[in-house]
Amino acid sequence: MVKKDRRTFYALLIIGIISVSMIPVLYWFIVTPEIEITQVNCPTLIYKGESISIYLNIKIKGLPADILDYTLTIQNKDNLEFFKYHSIIEKHYSLGKFSLIINIPPIFEDIHSNKVVALSYGEYRLLKIDLKGKTGNALIFTSKDVNKEFSIIYAPFTNRIIHGNFKITDTINYWNISSKPVINPILFPEQGVLLRNTYNSPASVIISQKVNLTGVPTIRIIFEDENPNITAFFNDSSLSLINKTSNSIIYLASDKIGLGVLSFLINLNPHEYFILKEIKAITRHVSIFMAVLQYNWNNGTGFDPLLKDIKEASGRFLAALNISFVPGPAKFFQHENTTDLFKIKDEAIIKINSLYGLGHEWISARPYENKNNGFDLLFIATNYYTDHYGIVFSESYQPINIVVVSDQSKEAFGLKLKAEWVDNLFQHELSHVLWALDRWSKYDPPSVMTKPSNIQDAISMYMSHQLWLQLTNWLIEDQIRMLNYKQLFYSY
Ligand SMILES: [Zn+2]
Repeated sequence: MVKKDRRTFYALLIIGIISVSMIPVLYWFIVTPEIEITQVNCPTLIYKGESISIYLNIKIKGLPADILDYTLTIQNKDNLEFFKYHSIIEKHYSLGKFSLIINIPPIFEDIHSNKVVALSYGEYRLLKIDLKGKTGNALIFTSKDVNKEFSIIYAPFTNRIIHGNFKITDTINYWNISSKPVINPILFPEQGVLLRNTYNSPASVIISQKVNLTGVPTIRIIFEDENPNITAFFNDSSLSLINKTSNSIIYLASDKIGLGVLSFLINLNPHEYFILKEIKAITRHVSIFMAVLQYNWNNGTGFDPLLKDIKEASGRFLAALNISFVPGPAKFFQHENTTDLFKIKDEAIIKINSLYGLGHEWISARPYENKNNGFDLLFIATNYYTDHYGIVFSESYQPINIVVVSDQSKEAFGLKLKAEWVDNLFQHELSHVLWALDRWSKYDPPSVMTKPSNIQDAISMYMSHQLWLQLTNWLIEDQIRMLNYKQLFYSY
């Protein structure tokens, strides 16, 4: 009995010792918290200029833990470079799981290398996500190899006319039609819509819909065999005719912006009929990424006057041409004290390398989608007194991809640019990027591109608020020219 008891005691003792020694192990397994990335959703196609939203699910095991920050490793396929991005997380917690939405802006700064990157056209790979969390005061980490490909593509052409293709039987219902007796929408659903005058006297019909004509160069209306007598209007003003063939008519639209009613007045002789096939108002949004350098630029108003004025000018390009200029961070750029904008440009080409982490000097030659870290344009602003308020540069026969602006110029006897003129100067110089040229008051009406031909003109233009720096309007010829050169910024 005694022996047996003792044996039991020893057995209990051993079990007890084992149990005590297991406590740290059990503690490790049960209590030590872990974070694990269980799901990553990344879009595969993104339009240039848009942010990328990545969705993550993260499981928490053990003690409650919090998520602090993350690092994404993105590989640019062409250059085999790695980019990282890091920021505070937007997070939602429920039942041991975090769900996160990470937004990668189209231009970001890599905190590890200070490299500034623009996500331009091309193939990319989201390689890895590193996540940092904490429990109490202890930091915890997890990492996941993602290896997901995504592509940045140019925004597609879109037709601003809804149901502009009349081959589909019911699309006519979207249009406002002034007098239905002359229209039979279901007669020829394969070919288009029949417009027929059933009367013994001349008749007319107006078809219309609300359309945003911003950035639309032309409107094209196509018939089956031949055109009727037709006039196009946007709100109350008629559209100018550009070209007419036997079955299509092209109208100018680049002088019309914003939302309005587009209408067509169609006149028909007695018993005359036509088949309307299609109405097109095609446009494409283009984002132009700008690397920005500044030397003591403090002109303008607002928190960051330089970026605010770029945004202001960009808004006018968006409204009239469907183009956005998207600036990167304005990096401080110390340059030689000179009045020569060429010298400032030459210095910027070299210094942008370290300021934006390019790994080389600014490359002016096309194609440069994935050179220059994805930037299309180098924009330099200085408060030095220089020869001109602004100048643009290009390699011979290459698109313009360098702009220098100054806020004190010999052009106006050293007059410092008025703060309210800065966005207009930017608009003028950025118009040159799209190959709008300088105009002169001797030959051309006032516009943001029209400079005074002489000092008398300068004074009278200024007094009547018609000086180029006081204006934001373009001449129609320049809008058309810029819409043509817009395609320099997309090649596919
Ligand atoms: Zn100019």
